[in-house]
Amino acid sequence: MSLQQQEIRASGYKSKQRMKAAVFVEPGRIVIEDKPVPDISPLDALIRITTTTICGTDVHILKGEYPVARGLTIGHEPVGVIEKLGSAVSGFTEGQRVIAGAITPSGHSMACLCGCASQDGAGTRHGFKAMGGWKFGNTIDGSQAEYLLVPDAMANLAPVPDELTDEQVLMCPDIMSTGFSGAERGRVRIGDIVAVFAQGPIGLCATAGARLMGATRIIAVESVDTRKSIARQLGADDVVDFTAGNVVDEIMRLTDGRGVDVAIEALGRQETFEAALRVLRPGGTLSSLGVYSGDLKIPLDAFAAGLGDHTLVTTLCPGGKERMTRLMNVVASGRVDLRPLVTHRFKLEDIEQAYDLFSNQRDGVLKVAIMP
Ligand SMILES: [Zn+2]
Repeated sequence: MSLQQQEIRASGYKSKQRMKAAVFVEPGRIVIEDKPVPDISPLDALIRITTTTICGTDVHILKGEYPVARGLTIGHEPVGVIEKLGSAVSGFTEGQRVIAGAITPSGHSMACLCGCASQDGAGTRHGFKAMGGWKFGNTIDGSQAEYLLVPDAMANLAPVPDELTDEQVLMCPDIMSTGFSGAERGRVRIGDIVAVFAQGPIGLCATAGARLMGATRIIAVESVDTRKSIARQLGADDVVDFTAGNVVDEIMRLTDGRGVDVAIEALGRQETFEAALRVLRPGGTLSSLGVYSGDLKIPLDAFAAGLGDHTLVTTLCPGGKERMTRLMNVVASGRVDLRPLVTHRFKLEDIEQAYDLFSNQRDGVLKVAIMP
């Protein structure tokens, strides 16, 4: 063990029994509170957070649009150092730099074993639970804290290569995994035309993912100038501004009336879902990433009365250590650089300011880095 690792152990878990954490109090209030450092069970790990961030989903929680328990620590995007391993965990060492996915599947439920680990239902009757893999900042304490308990550590800890910085891997746990999955689940093929609706952090990653999958024409839909230019850096060939005219007409014009092979929805609204369906070529795929807050309507004409050979897929961020390792390999290869997405940096104790900036989308913010 290195001197630095010894210092981490000496200064960390044993002496520091309490920690700062960003806690949901009531709608409109996420505040820093003092909490106990979590105790861990044999299969868990405790990690000391070195960098984390705020997700759009956390803003839904802040606003009371997605209910969580009062007192829960928020956040699901951890980068840190292993502070303590449960007695049954092998294959990792204390002091190792790691990330864990936003989604932490058990690895042993029926859902995990049939390839839909995000719907992990470990402990339920049939082993499937909608969104059951999403635990951090949802059903257990999350990552906007000094320390984080990672459940089922052997399925979820992914060592960070030494040459990668925290900020380089900060998008792997959620944004990058989710955005890429929009392209993967849409089964983008070499030579495809792809439209990506909205270029927030997830839409930008969907654009980058579509390029990696082999799309040769990517049409991004966005109105904010900074997002338009990052979309172009990450692979968009055309950017359609929805404030400048009818998006569907413009995409059909750009494709000579053909439509796109895959449309990725990355906002979660009726208008974008419907537009994504309307720009599909017959037999195309709508890959939906958005989190919707109301019933969706599927227009009969765009749906070809149910006879259009369309494929509609939805995805919850893939997690687990294999996925995280794969995404870090993408970062290490230099094929995608998501550092431009980190626009602001805050100390954990100033996270309320960070929430204020991020939730009001001020000052060109895309993602904030939060450091305890
Ligand atoms: Zn998220």
